[in-house]
Amino acid sequence: MSHYFDYAATSPMRQVAVEAWVEHAAALNPGGQYGSGRAARGVLDSAREEIARLLGADPVEVIFTGSGTEADNIAVQGLYRASSSNRVLCSTVEHPAVRETVRHLEGQGAEVEWLPVSESGHLRDLSALDTPAAVATCMYANNETGAIQPIGQLIKRASAVGTPVHIDAVQALGRCEINFHELGATTLAGSAHKFGGPRGIGVLLARRSPAPQALLFGGGQERGIRPGTNDVAAAAATAAALREALAQRAEEETRLRALREDLQRRVISEIEDVRVNTAEPSLPGYLSLSFPGAEGDSLIMLLDSLGIEAATGSACHSGVNRASEVLLAMGVPEHEARGTVRLSMGSATTAEDVAYVAAQLPEVVRRARLAGMA
Ligand code: PLP
Repeated sequence: MSHYFDYAATSPMRQVAVEAWVEHAAALNPGGQYGSGRAARGVLDSAREEIARLLGADPVEVIFTGSGTEADNIAVQGLYRASSSNRVLCSTVEHPAVRETVRHLEGQGAEVEWLPVSESGHLRDLSALDTPAAVATCMYANNETGAIQPIGQLIKRASAVGTPVHIDAVQALGRCEINFHELGATTLAGSAHKFGGPRGIGVLLARRSPAPQALLFGGGQERGIRPGTNDVAAAAATAAALREALAQRAEEETRLRALREDLQRRVISEIEDVRVNTAEPSLPGYLSLSFPGAEGDSLIMLLDSLGIEAATGSACHSGVNRASEVLLAMGVPEHEARGTVRLSMGSATTAEDVAYVAAQLPEVVRRARLAGMA
């Protein structure tokens, strides 16, 4: 039996999402001006309306995309192109979907200012926001540590000087209460597979103005911001998953917080020399731990051999074990950052799963330390 601790990477599809998906699998082109087209359009519109209602947005502000990565790209590049400024503000702990997009813009002449974080992984200096920019972009919550950023403050300061703000809420959607209008962001990205919807569909919330300029050109669907025939079944499944995730949110938060506290307490009491990278405020089910002297890959492989599925939290590039850019930005020394495991929990995680991983980790860390660093 496997013990799944990688909800931050992707979450199992919720039954309600599977049912909605299957129910509408045969839907035809929602652009068709005949009965079956209108029927598909009705399902798509209902999904859009429900997502809008759940997230405090207007239906016209909901744009379906092919992934969270695509939603981030459209927002960051599109807002940049829509502006006459070439200044871009971005946190140092972004997911590659945003970080690499901003680096790409930098290569094209953008002047980028990287917003620093403290040791806890939270933004520590917002003063760069007091000067106008084409776009300021920051994640709601971090995918490696779970750290929740002070985005309310960030949006307020950026808005005071007229800077559009993009929020990458891919990890937060379904896990945090989000009201797009109250938040005041210009755009906000989400991804269905993180909250129990299907993989391969994202959501971009985009105010009417300023709207991101299109990166793709085609049939004008999704306000022309993301043209292409819609996946109606995936949209319906996304709405169903989000509805359930938010209905269970408060209860899940309490349950996951207790599981994480239990796990953290056991790890600290049983393993010497552990660095806890997750600090409050944070998503409740996330725990990033570094074990100096061990290599992340060894830890993951040893855990896998025991049926525990977890991640280092950072991408491996062509087989080379690299330290996470997020942890380095937080000031974690490179050799410590390389020995990191991210344990992320969700709807099906039980106290037994936590007890099992807590019981196995001391021996796993001992063996990985024995194997040493590559
Ligand atoms: N942004 C964050 C914070 C993420 O965690 C991820 C996925 O891991 C993405 C963006 C990309 O989302 P997707 O996998 O839907 O492309």
